[in-house]
Amino acid sequence: MTENHLATSHLGAFDYDPAPESASIARLRDAYGLFIDGDFTDAASHASFASVNPATGADLANVAQANSPDVDRAVAAARHAYDTVWSKTTGAQRAKYLFRIARLIQERSRELAVVETLDNGKPIRESRDIDVPLAAAHFFYYAGWADKLEHAGYGANPRPVGVAGQIIPWNFPLLMAAWKLAPALAAGNTCVLKPAETTPLSALILAEILQQAELPAGVVNILTGDGATGAALVEHPGVDKIAFTGSTEVGRLIQRRVAGSAKRLTLELGGKGANIVFDDAPIDEMIEGIIDGIFFNQGHVCCAGSRLLVQETIADEVLRRLVRRVEQLRVGDPLDKNTDVGAINSAAQLAKITELVAAGEAEGATRYSSSCELPSAGYWFAPTVFANVSSSHRIAREEIFGPVLSVLTFRTPDEAVAKANDTNYGLACGVWSEKGSRTLWVAERLRAGVIWANTYNRFDPTSPFGGVRESGFGREGGRHGLEAYLDV
Ligand code: ADP
Repeated sequence: MTENHLATSHLGAFDYDPAPESASIARLRDAYGLFIDGDFTDAASHASFASVNPATGADLANVAQANSPDVDRAVAAARHAYDTVWSKTTGAQRAKYLFRIARLIQERSRELAVVETLDNGKPIRESRDIDVPLAAAHFFYYAGWADKLEHAGYGANPRPVGVAGQIIPWNFPLLMAAWKLAPALAAGNTCVLKPAETTPLSALILAEILQQAELPAGVVNILTGDGATGAALVEHPGVDKIAFTGSTEVGRLIQRRVAGSAKRLTLELGGKGANIVFDDAPIDEMIEGIIDGIFFNQGHVCCAGSRLLVQETIADEVLRRLVRRVEQLRVGDPLDKNTDVGAINSAAQLAKITELVAAGEAEGATRYSSSCELPSAGYWFAPTVFANVSSSHRIAREEIFGPVLSVLTFRTPDEAVAKANDTNYGLACGVWSEKGSRTLWVAERLRAGVIWANTYNRFDPTSPFGGVRESGFGREGGRHGLEAYLDV
């Protein structure tokens, strides 16, 4: 592609020297047990599996595989801690623990960032500047609520739910653990958390932090394992509430399992976010917003702006600039501080991305992929933009969960809204325009839980996040995030 060659030769003059963060900062142990009742313990079956660095394919550490007997033990520990300690602890005391956890995350932030990058494949710049600080911020924020629950708008004496089973995905391992644990603990619940099987390590460092913070034993239990571990947790009769973040397929399965039981449920599932750009938006900021909306965290983001809806009058210029910008993204070693796009998290995810991109080509969309050189080991996918996409293409309908943007065009605000809403999902959208009245007109008509104006992927612990339709239900973050963990 001529455009690519031009961009590459221009870039040659600005080559960066490598600036790697040291992997040794991670100080990983060879093997980790399950974190039950305040201690690391072996799984009953003694089974374990390796967590792999997706950027190299190398094993990082061995973690225990929890099965039903381990889930029994963890739920019993959580119940005992709830009955004997946590439900008797005042809000001010709970706040003290949450503040401690937040400060310890800050103290160990460099180590956590390196562990997250090694285990997930995301650029160190993101784990260092976004995942870890936001995880600490969530604990700080909910620490503030712990002694003020009666002012949260859920009645004069809001009660906790009890034992929460929490299942999280691999795209923001530490941050998702914080999103789950901080509000649950602030509201007075005890927890059994299951990290994803490809990214268990930062949750295990968090377990060490909980020990350092002297959180009473059993208040948080962390079980490493696969989907079967998650299913055993969902089905356990001792669990009062399930909070799940992950794929829509598994969310559906969990909803069916929980139906008819007294368990409460919140689901944060997939998305196919539309980033809508009007011809009056400031173009430089908008291009950066589009790039960040889809290539942040390799596109492993449920609220990613994976569909770009661009007004026809500026479509050619936006596409030209996007292709040039994609070519400038630095893809490679996630530990390098200059890296923009890291590794794909697993072979399975890479296969899914590859399959959907092939479908995009087969259905007639025009593909522009970065000509960057991809490392030979590990799992990688070149940042890709598809033009000439129509709403019926699979790449416009299915969640790719990778660094792949589908560009569609529109002429009028009505058409933009119709196309944006033409999806089964409803998690997030972005609107870019200089006119506030137009942004509000569009935002009112979009069916999505989160709408960003002239920005994208902006997260804040004070702001509720969650979906509608097949993107799930319930909110995390802000005052609203407490509701899931209160008996209201
Ligand atoms: P993704 O497609 O993003 O990997 P999944 O929905 O498969 O997302 O996984 C998200 C989390 O759900 C992971 O922790 C995974 O182990 C867990 N999980 C997978 N299958 C089940 C299941 N049947 N019941 C409960 N949890 C599950």
